Amino acid sequence: MKRKVKGEEPEDQSHAGTSTLKVSAKAKPKKRQKAASSSKSEVLWPEYFHSAINTVLAFISSKKQLAVTFQAIRTSVEAQLKHPLEITSVAELRALLPDLVKFSYVPKNELQVSGDKDKDYELLSQSQLLSKGPEESYVLVLELADNLQLKKSKNTGFAYSQPPAMSISALQKLIDRRNIACKEALDNLVIHAGPNEDPTLLLQDAGREFIPVDPTPAIPSEAVAGPSQIVPEPEARLPIPDIIEEITAQSWYKEQIIHHQVLPPKAAKLGSLDPLPSTSILQALADSRKVSTFYSHQASAIEGVRNGSHVVVSTSTASGKSIIYQVPLLMALEQDSDAKAIFVYPTKALAQDQKASLEQILFSCPGLSHLKVDTYDGDTPQDARVTIRETASVIFTNFDTIHASILPHENNWRRFLKNVKLFVVDELHYYTGLFGSHVALILRRFRRVAAAVGNRRVQFISCTATLANAGSHMEKMFGLEPSEVLAITEDGAPANQKDFLVWDPPLIDPLQPALGRASAMAEATGLMRFLMKRGVRVILFCKIRKICELAMKTIKADLSNEGRYDILKRVKPYRGGYSREDRRRIEADAFSGQLLGIVATNALELGIDIGVLDAVIMLGFPMTIPSFRQQAGRAGRRSKDSLTVLVTEPYAVDQYFANHPEELFEKKLDEIMVDVDSKVVLEAHLQCASYEMPISLSDEMWFGPSMRELCEKSLVKDKDGWYHPHPNFLPYPSGHVSIRGAQEEKYMVVEMSENDNTLKTIEEVEVSRAMFEVYEGGVFLHQGMTFITKEVSHDTRVAKVLKADVNYITSPRDYTDVDAMRTYRIRRAKSCLAYYGKVHVCVKVFGFFKIRNKTILDAVEVDTPPWDRDTTGFWIDVPKSILDLLRSLQLNVAEAIHAASHAFLIQFPLAEDVRTECKAAEKEYKVTESSRKRPARLIFYDSIGKGGGVSAKAFDHGRSLLEATLLQACDIVTNCPCEEGCTKCVASPSCKEANKVMSKLGATIILKGLLGRELDYSHENIQAEVYNGPDTIVDAPPVLAAQGIEIEES
Ligand SMILES: [Zn+2]
Ligand SMILES: [Zn+2]
Repeated sequence: MKRKVKGEEPEDQSHAGTSTLKVSAKAKPKKRQKAASSSKSEVLWPEYFHSAINTVLAFISSKKQLAVTFQAIRTSVEAQLKHPLEITSVAELRALLPDLVKFSYVPKNELQVSGDKDKDYELLSQSQLLSKGPEESYVLVLELADNLQLKKSKNTGFAYSQPPAMSISALQKLIDRRNIACKEALDNLVIHAGPNEDPTLLLQDAGREFIPVDPTPAIPSEAVAGPSQIVPEPEARLPIPDIIEEITAQSWYKEQIIHHQVLPPKAAKLGSLDPLPSTSILQALADSRKVSTFYSHQASAIEGVRNGSHVVVSTSTASGKSIIYQVPLLMALEQDSDAKAIFVYPTKALAQDQKASLEQILFSCPGLSHLKVDTYDGDTPQDARVTIRETASVIFTNFDTIHASILPHENNWRRFLKNVKLFVVDELHYYTGLFGSHVALILRRFRRVAAAVGNRRVQFISCTATLANAGSHMEKMFGLEPSEVLAITEDGAPANQKDFLVWDPPLIDPLQPALGRASAMAEATGLMRFLMKRGVRVILFCKIRKICELAMKTIKADLSNEGRYDILKRVKPYRGGYSREDRRRIEADAFSGQLLGIVATNALELGIDIGVLDAVIMLGFPMTIPSFRQQAGRAGRRSKDSLTVLVTEPYAVDQYFANHPEELFEKKLDEIMVDVDSKVVLEAHLQCASYEMPISLSDEMWFGPSMRELCEKSLVKDKDGWYHPHPNFLPYPSGHVSIRGAQEEKYMVVEMSENDNTLKTIEEVEVSRAMFEVYEGGVFLHQGMTFITKEVSHDTRVAKVLKADVNYITSPRDYTDVDAMRTYRIRRAKSCLAYYGKVHVCVKVFGFFKIRNKTILDAVEVDTPPWDRDTTGFWIDVPKSILDLLRSLQLNVAEAIHAASHAFLIQFPLAEDVRTECKAAEKEYKVTESSRKRPARLIFYDSIGKGGGVSAKAFDHGRSLLEATLLQACDIVTNCPCEEGCTKCVASPSCKEANKVMSKLGATIILKGLLGRELDYSHENIQAEVYNGPDTIVDAPPVLAAQGIEIEES
C-alpha cells in the first residue's frame, strides 16, 4: 500500500466518521498501541505537537459537556494560549483521534448560543423549536465521543440511561485517557514517519481533509468536490475484488470482514427448441428483448408447456423468467387468437413492470400486435370492467380480485374462463402461511369453475426462488398430480462473479471491550458511502421503516458533513407507507440510473425492476434465509460482478450466522409448507365455492376428503343433496373471507406548513404502530427528514406534524397492558383451561427519550390520555406450580411468559389478526422494583381496527385448534436446535419489543407444564440463565365470568 505523502491524491478518509490519519500500512490502530507502549517516552516530538495539538486537546478535554460550539472554545482557548486557535488544529486532532473527536456542522436552529461566550449551547425546548421553525444555516460543533459512550446494558442493546453525573476523579481519569490516546497517536506518527517525512507536515496534510464543510445548501457541491472526488460512472467503476482490497487497506478497517465467499463466474448454458417458434415470435424477441438464444432452463420450460405439462421454474433472480411466460403465451395466441391468459404477480409494481414488457413484445410481433393486455384489479374503474372482460386477451390481476370479483361473477366471465390457456403465477414462494392456504383454495375454486364451463386444459406456469421442493410446492398450491408437473431447477443463465461478505462491527475500543461494538447502522451506512463514492450502485436493506429512516438520516448528515452533495442528491429512501406518487418517482429515478443509492425496507425485496445494482448491504440479518437470498439477488446483473454484505447486529440470530456463514449460501431452503387441509380456511372457501356453484360430493376431487364433514356441519343442504352457503355468509360469501387478514385501519400523518394552513398527507401508519410513531412532541421520520408531531387526534386518526430539522430522534416510553375483563367461555385444552372473553387494551405513552448517537439527551414527560380499547381475546393462565418451579430455578418469569406466548402465536394458523402483550426490556430489566405487575397469563387478543373475531373462531374450532397449537409449539420449542431462540421457535418478527425479553428454556417449562408433560430440564442450561432482578409477574387474578358458564369439554 502507498505511503501517504504530500501531493498525492487524498485517499478516502471518511468512513462513518471514524477515519484515522494513515501513516503506513503497519500503523493500524491495534498495532499502533503496541508500538507506542514499547517505545514510551523515548519519542521526541516536534514543537508543533506540544503547542498546537496536545495543549488544545488538554483544554477542550476538560469540558465535560457533550458538545461545544467552535466559536465558544476558540474564544477561551485563545485567552489561555495567547495565540490564535485555528480550525486546522482541531481538524488535525480529529485526523489523529477520529474515534474520539467529532467536529462537524449542526443545524443552527437546534442551538441556542448563549450570551455568555464560554457557555455551551443548549438544545431548544420544544416550543422554542416549533416557534422558530426550520432554518438553513449551521453552526460548527466540537464534541468528544467518549462522553457519549455509556454502559450498554446487556439486554436492551440500547443505552437507556442518562449520562452519569461525573465525579472529579472520574473526569480526571477521562482526561488522562484522552491524553494517553493523543500521546500514543503522536508518538506513533513520529515513529512511523519515513526518513524523508516531516511528522508535522504529515499531520497538517491529513488535517486538511478533516476541515468540516459548512453544509448550508447555498454552497454548490462542485466547489467542494475537487477533481479527485468525482464519482466514476457506474459502468467504469473498479471490479468488486479491487474495491474490497481497497476497503481492507483503509485505516478504519478493523478486521470487520469475518467471512468472505466468492461465487465464481458461470458461463451460460444454452438450450434449443425443436421446432423453433415462428419467425414472427423470434423477430419480436429480438426486437423487443434483444433475445436470440434461449438458456437451457428457458428452453426446457417452453418445451414443457408445449408438451402439455404444468411448469415450475426454480432458478436465481434475474435469470430471464419473463421469457418463460411470454414465449408460450405468444405461441398460444398464434394458434388461437381467442386464447386468454391470466398473469398474477405478488405486487402491483411488479405487475405493472411486466405488463409493459408484455405489451412491448406483443406489439413487435406481427399478427399479434392488435391484442390487448389489461390490468383488472380492485382499482379498475367499474365502467372499464365490462370492456376489459370482453376485449382483453391477457389480464394482470391478483388473487384478491379472482377471489372476490371474478369467481363470484363467473357468469360474466364465462367466455373468458372458457378460453384461458395459460395461468401464470410469478414468485410462487411468496404464497406461504395462511395467505398461501387461501391462495391454494382459490386456485382450486378457479379450476373447478373453469372445468364446469368446459375448460379442463388450463396450464399453470410459475417461477419461484430456489426451493428445496419446488415441484411438490407447485403440486400442492394448484392441486396437481406429480405426473402433471415439470419442475426445472437447473439454471442456465450466466452469472458474473459474486462476492459475499459477513461484516461484524468492530469493538469500539479493543482495550475496553465493555463499551461494546460499533453500531451496525454506522458501519452499514459508512460502507454504503464508501461504495457510492466509487461509483458502485448500492441498495441498503433495513428491516423496519424506522431503521430505514434513521439510516437515511445518518447518510444525509454524513454526506453533508463531507460536502458530498453530488452523492447526497443521488440517494433515496424507499419503503411502503410512502404515497404512490413518491414511490413511482423514486422507482423511475432508480430505473433510469439516476440513483447511486437506495435505502429500502423489504418492500423492495420482491421487487420491481429498479435496474442494475452492484451491491446489496443488509443492515442486520433479514429474519429468514429466503429473504436473505432474495435481497442478495437484487445485486448483479449478467455483465457485472457484484457484492453482498451482511452487517451483523448483536441479536442472537445474527450472531448465529456470523458463526455459521456457510449456511447463508449453501443450505438448501427449507421446504415451503402450505396447509391446504386447514379446516378453518377450507370451510371459508367452501362457503365461497358453493355460492359460485352449489357443491356436490363429487367436488371432493377439488377440496379433499374433509369437505364432506365441513359441508354437513356448516353449509346448507337442499333436498337434492346440493350444498349452498350458510345464510350468515350471504349475500356475498367472499366478502366475509379475508385472504390477507383484515386490512388494518390507519392514521394519516399530515404535514402542516409554516406559511399557510394547508395540510399535506405524507404517510399512513397502521393503528397498531401509530401509538408509538406519532405522539405529541415526538420526532417522526419521513424520507430521512425529521418532523415534530404537534397534535394527534385518536378520534379522527390524524396526526399533524411540522417539518423541523432536528438532529435527535425520540423513542417513546410506553406500556401496553392487556387485561382479561370478563369470561364468556371456557374450554379444556389438555391439562389446562382456556378462556375466551372481553379484553381491555391500554396503551399509555407517558413520555419519550430524546436520543442522539444512542445517547439520551433528555427524558420528556408527556401527559397524553391513554389509548383504551375493548376487544375480544383468549387466555391461558400459568398455574402457580409452574411459577413456583420457574422461580425456584431462578428463571425470569416475564421472559418465560413472553417466549411462550410467541411460541404459541408462531404456530397459530390465525396469528395474523391476533396480538399478544409483548414484554419490553426497559421494564423487565429495571434494577429497581416496579409497581407495575403483570398477571402470569398467556393472553391473545383480536387486533384492534381490523374487525376482529378471530379469537372467537379459534374457540369455535375449539379444543382441537388450541390444543394442536399448544402441542405443536411445545414440540417445536423443545426440539429446536437453536441456542437462545430463533424465528422458528420463540422469536417473532412481529414482536413489538424486538424479542429482547426471551427465555426459550422458560417457554419450554411453561408449555410442557400446561400440557401436563414431564419436565426434564438439564441443570447446565439453567445455570446460564439465572436471573436475580425483581420479578414483574404476579399470580393471574380470577376474571369475572358471565353467569352459568360450563366448561366445554370438546
Ligand atoms: Zn429456535
Ligand atoms: Zn413480543
